[in-house]
Amino acid sequence: MLKIMAVNAGSSSLKFKLFMMPGEEVITEGIVERIGWDDAYYTIVVNGDKIKEVLPIKNHSVAVRRLLDDLISRGILSDLSEINGVGHRIVQGGSYFPDSVLIDEDVVQKIDELAELAPLHNPAHLTGIKAFLEALPDVPNVAVFDTSFHQTMDEETYMYALPYEWFTKYKIRKYGAHGTSHKYVAMKAAQIVGRPLEELKIVTCHLGNGASIAAVKGGKCIDTSMGLTPLEGIPMGTRSGNIDPAVVGVISEAENLTAAEVVDILNKKSGYLGVSGVSNDSRDLEAGMAKGNRRCKLALDIQSKRIADYIGSYFIQLEGIDIIVFTAGIGENSSRCRRDVLNRLKVLGVEVDEEANNKQRQIVEITTKNSKVRAFVIPTNEELMIARDTVRIARLCEK
Ligand code: ADP
Repeated sequence: MLKIMAVNAGSSSLKFKLFMMPGEEVITEGIVERIGWDDAYYTIVVNGDKIKEVLPIKNHSVAVRRLLDDLISRGILSDLSEINGVGHRIVQGGSYFPDSVLIDEDVVQKIDELAELAPLHNPAHLTGIKAFLEALPDVPNVAVFDTSFHQTMDEETYMYALPYEWFTKYKIRKYGAHGTSHKYVAMKAAQIVGRPLEELKIVTCHLGNGASIAAVKGGKCIDTSMGLTPLEGIPMGTRSGNIDPAVVGVISEAENLTAAEVVDILNKKSGYLGVSGVSNDSRDLEAGMAKGNRRCKLALDIQSKRIADYIGSYFIQLEGIDIIVFTAGIGENSSRCRRDVLNRLKVLGVEVDEEANNKQRQIVEITTKNSKVRAFVIPTNEELMIARDTVRIARLCEK
């Protein structure tokens, strides 16, 4: 039996999930929030109960120390040496990492270098890595990149039609995101339909506050909607998704803003929030639409149209689709979103099973027996993929 900690460190937070492998049971999970504050939140789930404490947590090292001490004092572990491996979610792996990797100095240096492409995420992940390396120096740490799954895209797909030197000098290309989630649900879909992943053409729709879609052929990603950054692709809670890039110049002139300020608005004040003026949260938009709010409806129509447009384009690229998967907050919970998207795909022979689609929070097939494309809701589990990769990459099974 192995105990593996899956970690997702943000700039002021640290999410953790401790797994027993290979059985994949969750031993405990939780989150430290407001790291750097005197009133930080430490939340841990013990025997199904959520325990929350407010306490000062100066930095990520203190957060990790506190977590490890707590695991001992609550009797979840009798000794820290019981932790066999730690897996870290890393947003940007650039072109360096087509797979997860054991963390050493060179890997740390490359994650640091790639901070220029993910300034909010990679530095935060490094603080998490350093804190665990400090607290558990003898335990293997594995980096699991959101970008790895998308490294199989062809050059014609990942290159932008821009001056070529921008690629050689600044690494400007499409990298994608949410790769761990896309890979997990694609694998799960193959398992559910009982066919080898190698034979299947799958479109995975990760629709959370951040959202991306991937085309998966034979288990390999051939295209995805996010780009150099998570701003590209379908509109999201607060992100615009694809727009005419000339908007940046027009608005910076009109509103006397720098390009960086306009891009900040494209990231934080656009998307469903920008269109509706009400909220970034699809639940609020659905409530608004039910009350007759026109802009809430418009935001949701834009949402389902753009998602369906991507699936249509991936139908061409994949030369057919066997399975469409919906996952993450909106994909798992909004029957309205799924129905609206699938109804726009009738031309592909998609037929929604209304009753199944109205079921919530479980793996469910939401198309009829006659549907030419099968669609499923599959809850994502990025932490489990991180734990699995930690076992595989650190070769823990062989030890
Ligand atoms: P992220 O990890 O990107 O923050 P999640 O995958 O947790 O996002 O998804 C969060 C989003 O899911 C929320 O912003 C909300 O819009 C959406 N969501 C959750 N439940 C529902 C629901 N019942 N109906 C519609 N949208 C929902």
